[in-house]
Amino acid sequence: MSWTNSRNAELKERAAKVIPGGMYGHESTALLPGDFPQFFRRAEGARLWDVDDNEYIDYMCAYGPNLLGYREPQVEAAVAAQAALGDTLTGPSEVMVTLAETMVSMLSAADWAMFCKNGTDATSMATVIARAHTGKRKILVGKGVYHGAAPWCTPGPAGILSEDRGHIVYYRDQDPQDLADAMKAHAGDIAAVFATPFRHETFRDQSEPDATFAGEARRLCDAEGVVLVLDEVRSAFRLSREGAWAGLGVTPDLTAIGKVIGNGQPISALVGLEHMRKAASSVFVTGSFWFSAVPMAAALATLKIVRDSDYLERLAHTGRLFREGLAAQAADHGFTLRQTGPAQMPQILFEDDPEMRLGYFWTAAAVRRGVYLHPYHNMFINAALTEADVALTLQATDAAFAALKAQDRAHLPLERPAVRDRLERAALLSM
Ligand code: PMP
Repeated sequence: MSWTNSRNAELKERAAKVIPGGMYGHESTALLPGDFPQFFRRAEGARLWDVDDNEYIDYMCAYGPNLLGYREPQVEAAVAAQAALGDTLTGPSEVMVTLAETMVSMLSAADWAMFCKNGTDATSMATVIARAHTGKRKILVGKGVYHGAAPWCTPGPAGILSEDRGHIVYYRDQDPQDLADAMKAHAGDIAAVFATPFRHETFRDQSEPDATFAGEARRLCDAEGVVLVLDEVRSAFRLSREGAWAGLGVTPDLTAIGKVIGNGQPISALVGLEHMRKAASSVFVTGSFWFSAVPMAAALATLKIVRDSDYLERLAHTGRLFREGLAAQAADHGFTLRQTGPAQMPQILFEDDPEMRLGYFWTAAAVRRGVYLHPYHNMFINAALTEADVALTLQATDAAFAALKAQDRAHLPLERPAVRDRLERAALLSM
């Protein structure tokens, strides 16, 4: 069946009338090539179907939450069983305690766990708990690093007051000296230092987890009595079963975890060390849906698979196959790719492509051939992706490289003038 997008176009038109901007936030396709579908119908395993019934091997995984494959049978069974009992009740179900026990038993930086819905809930809760713990005001965050969409951290400036960020201080992400300088400048008034386990901003090359930075961040925080918060919302359980910095021997005081916990069910968590328990007990944080039992049951089933299966080794293996296959193809077609970060969270940018014209054309060509890639955001490998899927993927990407090569490079379109603005802003933010 050939690729079509008439239903998608029709829905976008209807959406434009009743949804501000037609769509908002990170799942808006406003900055993506015009061919990218905005609306989807269904998903199974590593596959996704859009509203026109085009089938994709999906490398975005719902921007992270799909860890084990869409509609993973054990998770689906847990969801159905809990749904038959009840979901959002007048109080939490037993499963909340079992889930907290499970997280404490699995994560090296967890003596307790609190549950919420989105990553932003968890990171925002961390700021409040850190301030309650220290009595200090300043929150240090990496410049250009995404911690969510609340006023203290959203990358969009509209509607945000400078007062909202009055006590947010920026340092150069993953740079121990810059962190040390920023901490010195605000010594005596710092509540928390936020870090991500490795650099994973949009539009940029990623890094690998860095033991020097992690160790220095821990040492500097300890010296000043500052709370070290690791934002694992995007990376949790894709790098490690115990925590992304566990292998580096560095234990954060608080860890924000999101996206994957319920393999797509809405649940996130903040976990912490014993000495943070008193402050965590003192703050008032809640939400109507934070105690719903179905996502917690999904999380228990997901974590059981995380603990007992070889899913993580398979993610790394298929991620490497994909990466190596692409590198060889790119070289064959005369392109150089910058593939950075852990293979299970691939970021793929083209060398010599400052306005992303090559990346936009290539990913759009892949989408038309049934492989959903992203031109500037890190992607995600899920455990349902097989070697055969990677082989199919590589057939499509080979054809996409050939199509790109056939284009007159000087006349490749700039897909979205807005992308140029975003690139400029990203460059500013990450200075
Ligand atoms: N922190 C990081 C590192 C993230 O990647 C994200 C989401 N992409 C968030 C926080 C916010 O999570 P959510 O979108 O679930 O609020």
